[in-house]
Amino acid sequence: MIEFKNVSKVYPNGVTALKNIDLTINQGEFVAIIGLSGAGKSTLIRTINKMHPITDGSLTVNDIDVSQLKGKELRRFRRDIGMIFQSFNLVNRAKVITNVLNALVPDLPAWRNLIGYFTKEEEIFALEQLDRVGILDKAYTRVDQLSGGQQQRVALARTLAQSPKIILADEPVASLDPVTANVVMNDFKRINRDNNISVLINIHHVELALEFCDRIIGIRDGEIVFDGPSDKVDQET
Ligand code: ADP
Ligand code: ADP
Repeated sequence: MIEFKNVSKVYPNGVTALKNIDLTINQGEFVAIIGLSGAGKSTLIRTINKMHPITDGSLTVNDIDVSQLKGKELRRFRRDIGMIFQSFNLVNRAKVITNVLNALVPDLPAWRNLIGYFTKEEEIFALEQLDRVGILDKAYTRVDQLSGGQQQRVALARTLAQSPKIILADEPVASLDPVTANVVMNDFKRINRDNNISVLINIHHVELALEFCDRIIGIRDGEIVFDGPSDKVDQET
């Protein structure tokens, strides 16, 4: 469970990105965060893994006080939280499977990275993750030869290799065409449903949010202006 209590976030330059956020997200929810550019969606998501530390209030994840975490504890905490970006953040010149394997062995000794050595078990596990998102056939292809949608699915497989409890996705379909965006949203939905992983997704396509997510949170100027089930939004619009 993710719990925000009266959380605010002021960036060092004085911009207030979040104001008095009260929010509870239960394990296994699929939540869309919607709002205009600059509303605070990305900041909200990135406070959860402390990429952007909160400046006021309290934020707990499964009763862990996120503000208190640092060093090794913070790294261990972040292993349970997958992060997906609009720009995929993959190693483009490496093979797909290498990208997944690198996430699988978090504190990879440098020599293993250099010679690209992984055990058969690790390789099989990585292949299983690629199979879960339907791109097993691309395992030995270089990332830069894949389409945007395929790259986002590799990013998802890489995140799954961490066995996360939570996935944070910051505009994961913003740079994809509508058909591919649907495919990727379907992947998120299936992963959420089959594994009870909480998924928080920033998205500006309201229709996609309504179709795939269970709960919609609307933010404007750093404040929550809507929070409810997606079927309820449907009736109101
Ligand atoms: P969204 O994801 O909804 O587009 P953001 O969370 O990125 O919104 O931004 C919210 C506000 O905080 C904006 O005014 C933005 O300019 C500001 N902001 C975001 N990141 C930073 C940062 N690292 N330093 C200063 N201001 C930031
Ligand atoms: P993304 O889509 O990956 O979130 P952005 O363009 O929103 O990329 O932001 C890129 C980086 O710049 C982020 O680290 C964000 O926190 C930071 N940033 C965004 N807005 C501002 C701002 N107004 N001042 C300073 N840094 C900002």
